[in-house]
Amino acid sequence: MVQVAIENVTKAFGAFNVIHGIEVTVEDGEFVVLVGPSGCGKSTLLRMIAGLEEITSGTISIAGRIVNDVRPKERDIAMVFQSYALYPHMTVRKNMGFSLKLAKIPKHEIDKAVDRAASILGLEALLDRRPKQLSGGQRQRVAMGRAIVRSPQVFLFDEPLSNLDAQLRLQMRSEIRELHQRLEATTIYVTHDQVEAMTMADKIVVMRGGKVEQIGSPIDLYDRPANRFVASFIGSPS
Ligand code: ADP
Ligand code: MG
Repeated sequence: MVQVAIENVTKAFGAFNVIHGIEVTVEDGEFVVLVGPSGCGKSTLLRMIAGLEEITSGTISIAGRIVNDVRPKERDIAMVFQSYALYPHMTVRKNMGFSLKLAKIPKHEIDKAVDRAASILGLEALLDRRPKQLSGGQRQRVAMGRAIVRSPQVFLFDEPLSNLDAQLRLQMRSEIRELHQRLEATTIYVTHDQVEAMTMADKIVVMRGGKVEQIGSPIDLYDRPANRFVASFIGSPS
């Protein structure tokens, strides 16, 4: 089943076209990585899927429903950003439960959802701490916890690891993959790091200048790059 369908989507900021007719389908349960150089439109595309940015033309569907006019909260998705944007004055528990509170979910259900997410992420012992009392990796986990509590069908990640050191980045890559597997989620993951793309993705979408250059499995791209750009991008060290 197709979970997310991006059909002939374009985006212009004023007179400036940044996305030029993108077609991508993401199957249920798939881990898809959007990769490409800085400024190629990855975040803009992700924000359109999340509903944080209007689509100029084309359609985006989630679970078979066109969501062009559906508000972010009513899309069955959750997004994890590079800057964790945790609320500094709130405890980990409050940070993780905040979106449920906004949605007027009863407190005992919020607690249950937060406890479940905390146990999945190994955050049980940290629920009463505040963000400044956490390491970078723990903060990243809290940011993921905030996404998990809402039990979304689709997870969107925008360069979630770029603030972490190399060692932690490696560890978090496999944690995010495991989480995806365990939650039977569908994931769209943005990075400019080709190694990250090659090691994490079921399917890679290589972007350049607001267009898709190639879509394929890591092995497809490695063995049969569609053009020189893909070959050198995939082949170059990060
Ligand atoms: P990436 O995430 O791949 O680095 P972005 O999606 O952030 O790329 O940006 C794609 C292009 O759109 C860039 O040229 C960027 O300057 C431009 N852009 C992004 N957001 C805006 C905006 N709000 N207004 C005008 N231009 C924007
Ligand atoms: Mg970006």
